[in-house]
Amino acid sequence: MRNPQLNANGELTHLLTIEGLPREILTHILDTATSFISIAERDVKKVPLLRGKSVFNLFFESSTRTRTTFEIAAKRLSADVVNLNINTSSQSKGESLLDTIDNLAAMNADMFVVRHSQSGAAHMIARHLAPHFHVINAGDGRHAHPTQGLLDAYTIRHFKKDFRGLSVAIVGDILHSRVARSLIHALNTLGTTDLRAIGPQTLMPSGVEQLGIRVYHDMSEGLRNCDVIVMLRLQNERMRGPLLPSAQEFFKTFGLTPEKLALAKPDAIVMHPGPMNRGVEIDSSVADGPQAVILQQVTFGIAVRMAVMSIVASH
Ligand code: ASP
Repeated sequence: MRNPQLNANGELTHLLTIEGLPREILTHILDTATSFISIAERDVKKVPLLRGKSVFNLFFESSTRTRTTFEIAAKRLSADVVNLNINTSSQSKGESLLDTIDNLAAMNADMFVVRHSQSGAAHMIARHLAPHFHVINAGDGRHAHPTQGLLDAYTIRHFKKDFRGLSVAIVGDILHSRVARSLIHALNTLGTTDLRAIGPQTLMPSGVEQLGIRVYHDMSEGLRNCDVIVMLRLQNERMRGPLLPSAQEFFKTFGLTPEKLALAKPDAIVMHPGPMNRGVEIDSSVADGPQAVILQQVTFGIAVRMAVMSIVASH
């Protein structure tokens, strides 16, 4: 079956998931992002690539970093940006998602950036719309967060230069994490062979090994000699019933403290998609320490989102 994100020429017209995208497309996005990094350092932080285009930011779930960085990215590409506050929109009056989309499409939107609590929402919108619209998934349920996966890959490449030969540990609530899924797909495609998922059994999706990642329940085994540590938030809003004894207990076993960080390579980097819960998955001294690259991830996220938007809009 044809990948719904690609047109008949194999070009990216939507970004819905990293799963199934060829390595050349991922590398092209990362390389394009590199060319956008310097725009932030200019006096006039703008290029005209999306001039005259309308980007609609549709966030049906709350977000700080992702929504803001998509908005900045679109503005730096000179697009007109419309942010929809869904709580006060027609959805709260019972309008269906696709009726809302049809109305916005009738306003001559060009691109939709969509975050939704339902897995598959962005796919459904992309399938529904005529081919000249572009849809970017900004997080759908626990399924995918492709621009986060790409900005994480960008950050890893920036600090570690090559994906091959790296050991990358993803720690915490893997079960509910779209960030973990997208990053696992990205790193598998980009050539990282030592991928480790560390967390309690109750927060590990069954069969996760089939995604190409080794499972550890012990930090001292899983973190040993790794180059990259990605910490995840406990996604309490997605948990049905208690999956852990307590946040304090979780921190004792899986929280990243300086002692546990010392098990990794001395030059290991520490990443986190945010929002961070200090004292739950990460100790403040690590979050603010010299190995943390958490704020650089946010900055790189703008260039990566500019790259994705400009690439899909060009096809
Ligand atoms: N911001 C990320 C997401 O939207 C991670 C998180 O919420 O914990 O999935």
